[in-house]
Amino acid sequence: MQFEATAAFARKMDEQDPLKHFRSRYYFPQHEGRNTLYFCGNSLGLQPKPVQNYIEQELEHWRTHGVEGHFRGEHPWMHYHKFLQQQTAHIVGAQEHEVVVMNTLTVNLHLLMVTFYRPTRERFKIIMEAGAFPSDQYAVESQVKWHGFTPENAIVEVSPRPGEETLRTEDIIATIEQHGSETALVLFGGVNYYTGQFFDLQSITDVGHRVGAYVGFDLAHAAGNVLLKLHDWGVDFATWCSYKYLNAGPGGPSGVFIHEKHGNNPTLPRFAGWWGHDEAQRFQMRKGFVPMPGAAGWQLSNAQIFSFAAHRASLDLFVEATMPALRKKSEQLTGFLEFMIENLNQNGQRFKIITPKNPAERGCQLSVLTDANGKQLFDYLAANGVICDWREPNVIRLAPAPMYNSFQDVRELSQLLQTFRD
Ligand SMILES: *Cc1c(COP(=O)(O)O)cnc(C)c1O
Repeated sequence: MQFEATAAFARKMDEQDPLKHFRSRYYFPQHEGRNTLYFCGNSLGLQPKPVQNYIEQELEHWRTHGVEGHFRGEHPWMHYHKFLQQQTAHIVGAQEHEVVVMNTLTVNLHLLMVTFYRPTRERFKIIMEAGAFPSDQYAVESQVKWHGFTPENAIVEVSPRPGEETLRTEDIIATIEQHGSETALVLFGGVNYYTGQFFDLQSITDVGHRVGAYVGFDLAHAAGNVLLKLHDWGVDFATWCSYKYLNAGPGGPSGVFIHEKHGNNPTLPRFAGWWGHDEAQRFQMRKGFVPMPGAAGWQLSNAQIFSFAAHRASLDLFVEATMPALRKKSEQLTGFLEFMIENLNQNGQRFKIITPKNPAERGCQLSVLTDANGKQLFDYLAANGVICDWREPNVIRLAPAPMYNSFQDVRELSQLLQTFRD
């Protein structure tokens, strides 16, 4: 794609964008009477306008039916997780019975490690990326200790080479091979929250399996952002949150993937609750846990209907737009942002993009290392109606979301980057 830095080019790209009408289905925070330039979908996605209606339907259902709401109407609460399954499977490339929405992300990481991290004296290591999101680090550290190992011995982190910002796939593979016979679990992010690097999940899965380990992914920054084929890749398990690119609102519920090769194995150990119990017998209130087949058999509690309703509203828009179309636009939109930033560099400014240049190795986010004035730049952007985020010591994360961002948003942002120095 040949980009141009002009306003006319950005306008033309927006006019030709087959997804352009989705923008008007989201609420943008306002700044001085106009839409902010919102580049923070990596942290909290915007509110889809239909969310209010979906939640109100459930309030109405509760007012009208009380407890009978569990069994009545188009979306009885008893089965509510099923009304998100098809859309969720589309997002992550799974069979419907391989996914379920439940709990929140860190909780699910723990639950999945209960099943997929069962260390022995010989095989006890977890391999992960250095600089993983802190919650993941704490979860892994505490799991390792819970099993009587020390993080120093049991956690192996793959780091960038000196002078580099991102990981090389060959280094990830070499590390897994090196610790092969001692490795119980390979647990990686899908897209790293700081650098925006999208890892080669297929290769990581293959090598993890070759050494006899389970392979799982935290897809918080990947779900709704990049194309995933969890089923075809043979990934053992994955989990993600819904409030970043998936726009389900603050504290929104988490999604879980468990490959069918495990999901239909009732003997796999797990922490159980009544909502994972065989549906047909759930209300017989008998002893003896019989898991439902598929990922649903890992559920503990009944669904949090209001946050699930918000998530259902947001997911329905993804199914309407489709992931392949979103990804196609995303590569152009992020490519355009990269082009505009590099253009500024030619004019003597210094923005170093640490996110990989290859579109196959990133999602929509670009992480930009700034010079010494980085914090002032960030404050200047904020004062001019840009919402993005700042990560110490000097990185600005910019995430143009294909669902609601436009090429004109990107151009306006780059103009602000330019006027800061001028
Ligand atoms: C956002 C994020 C989290 C947050 O976890 P919650 O349990 O939803 O608060 C965890 N891990 C990663 C990688 C994230 O990006």
